Amino acid sequence: DVFYRELPKVELHAHLNGSVSFQTIEKLIRRKPQLNIEHSMTAIGKGQRRTLDECFQVFKVIHQLVDSEEDILMVAKDVIKEFAADGVKYLELRSTPREEIPTGLTKRRYIETVIQAIQQCKEEGVDIDVRFLVAIDRRNGSQVAMETVQLAEEFLLSSDGLVTGIDLSGDPTVGHGRDLLSALQRAKNSGLKLSLHLSEVPSQHDETDLLLNIPPDRIGHGTFLHPEMGGSQGLVDKVVQKRIPLELCLTSNVKGQTVQCYSEHHFKYWYQMGHPVVICTDDKGVFATDLSQEYKMAATTFGLGREAVWKLSQQAIDYIFAPDSVKEQLKQKWSDLQPQEF
Ligand code: 5GP
Repeated sequence: DVFYRELPKVELHAHLNGSVSFQTIEKLIRRKPQLNIEHSMTAIGKGQRRTLDECFQVFKVIHQLVDSEEDILMVAKDVIKEFAADGVKYLELRSTPREEIPTGLTKRRYIETVIQAIQQCKEEGVDIDVRFLVAIDRRNGSQVAMETVQLAEEFLLSSDGLVTGIDLSGDPTVGHGRDLLSALQRAKNSGLKLSLHLSEVPSQHDETDLLLNIPPDRIGHGTFLHPEMGGSQGLVDKVVQKRIPLELCLTSNVKGQTVQCYSEHHFKYWYQMGHPVVICTDDKGVFATDLSQEYKMAATTFGLGREAVWKLSQQAIDYIFAPDSVKEQLKQKWSDLQPQEF
């Protein structure tokens, strides 16, 4: 739909290796035929659903395909250009730095390569402002979390504003946030912004309550925060009082089966309350979607008119992890592009 594609958009929740398109997977498969990987192993098609556990298996397959500097550079550039082609004007990519001994990849080079991809796209004139959040995979425990924060701190100072924050992600059923608290607090104190996956699955209330005290600058998913989903009013009150924006990924949650169907998505709960929410893709490759589709799905499912959709995409500017000067530039862009009437 032209309106949704032309709508200027902000993408704040996109995992690099979950965002790899069909076309890029094709190129990676050709580079590594010996792995015998097929498309059905790297993406969840229309109408298909998987358990969250099966979704995490998919990332393992993609990681086999993306294991060198060369791969990361290609993947990151392709992903950035695809978001730009979909009308995304500002993108925060997140990714977990990996060491791959066979290819000589180090965590530092991993981050440097993503930065290089961002810079190359800029030099090529791609019309999108891209920032990078260094991700902590909760599976790897407290020490790796602390090392990741230290690495991110270095890049916060040396990357010309491209590295802006930390993401906490990875299989929510593994590990506990209490072990990661000191690393996350340290990140916050050194000026890194924090986006934390919280209450993505039921029965994480204690962890969520603890991590909300930091507090994070944004929340990923927050599917089970509110009482109707088994959360609690106390958790909701904390999020509302601190006015912490939620990054909401409709197709991801439906395909990953943490949400029954689109109309039951918690977008409705928070949007009706007037709480800050941002529509995002999560993993556009794995879940076979793009941000235009996600906006359209939210609009059709919850009956939002075009003006409301415009406002939704415009308000996302307020929640980006970049300085106020960038927010002003984006607001100018939105007002230049705004239709005379909806
Ligand atoms: P990468 O960090 O390798 O660029 O992207 C894939 C990784 O992002 C996964 O291994 C996982 O740690 C994280 N990730 C992607 N999608 C999700 C999600 O829906 N929930 C959580 N908790 N983590 C995710």
